[in-house]
Amino acid sequence: MTVAGLLQRHGFCVKAYEQASAFSRIGAGIHLSSNVMLVMRRLGIEKTLSDIGLHPDAFVSRQWDTGEVLFELPLDPASEAHHGAAYINVHRGDLHAVLESALDPGTIAFGKKLRDIDQTGRTTSLASLKGRVLLIEMIGMTCPACQGFSGAKKLGTFGGIDSDGGLPSIDDLLVQYARGTMLSDDLVLVQILLFDLKMGPPTADDARAWASHFHRDAAKHQYVLAGGPALHNQASYVMVPGFQLVDRRFVLRWDATGHTPRHNLYIELLPAIPAILQER
Ligand SMILES: Cc1cc2nc3c(=O)[nH]c(=O)nc-3n(C[C@H](O)[C@H](O)[C@H](O)COP(=O)(O)OP(=O)(O)OC[C@H]3O[C@@H](n4cnc5c(N)ncnc54)[C@H](O)[C@@H]3O)c2cc1C
Repeated sequence: MTVAGLLQRHGFCVKAYEQASAFSRIGAGIHLSSNVMLVMRRLGIEKTLSDIGLHPDAFVSRQWDTGEVLFELPLDPASEAHHGAAYINVHRGDLHAVLESALDPGTIAFGKKLRDIDQTGRTTSLASLKGRVLLIEMIGMTCPACQGFSGAKKLGTFGGIDSDGGLPSIDDLLVQYARGTMLSDDLVLVQILLFDLKMGPPTADDARAWASHFHRDAAKHQYVLAGGPALHNQASYVMVPGFQLVDRRFVLRWDATGHTPRHNLYIELLPAIPAILQER
């Protein structure tokens, strides 16, 4: 909330998503030391907090059994002048309420849990999609079949590559071979870019450009990921083109990748999808 408020004061449009359904008045006293109070000043809530908070005489740390003073920080007018602000203690519930009052109305969206994205922002773990049926496609960006499966027939090729005009998109193949099944929150398409247009490891920019070209960036049930250097090798090379089907328990059920696939895409993998979607 502090960061949201400071960004709003600098003209940014900010929305904060919180998984909890509401703030509740749990917890106890929270120390707000002088450096924190200086930040609260920038938010315009220093006085409100100071008025409702306790102003302790000192911060004292003692030996648990003898009471011997181990550390003592006097919190007197001299220390306040030295640090430039008071040192106070407020109830956590009050702190939340005052912080929220410093935000534009409606800034916090409660009951919104971030899913499917690794919180480091660096990698995406396929395991985070566990519980849904995954259609995973291995892609070489120069591969005409991969361009075709992605939708080159309707949307044109990406990067000036000739697509195999005979190959329908995966969306059309699902309709034809998986009894009209469509991609959905339950059946997720994950495209993994393994080779870029120069046969090197693709980057996040490549993934964004591919997703945008083939209109796979607008829906929550379609992901285009850059495999990166770790997936750039001979083993991944022989998996292009093709699809794998992973069930809700995160078990690989059908593997129709590469030019000599273990399973056939049209007579095994795709027709199996309706039944696998029924499994709970
Ligand atoms: C017992 C205790 C006492 C403390 N006492 C003090 C003190 O006296 N003074 C002091 O300055 N500091 C104190 N701290 C430390 C202080 O509470 C933390 O440093 C501070 O709360 C961190 O703020 P934050 O916003 O980074 O994280 P948090 O306060 O942990 O907030 C993160 C929020 O993100 C939400 N969230 C997490 N994952 C998701 C998701 N996937 N989708 C949506 N929402 C999500 C969580 O529900 C949570 O509300 C104390 C900490 C503890 C545990």
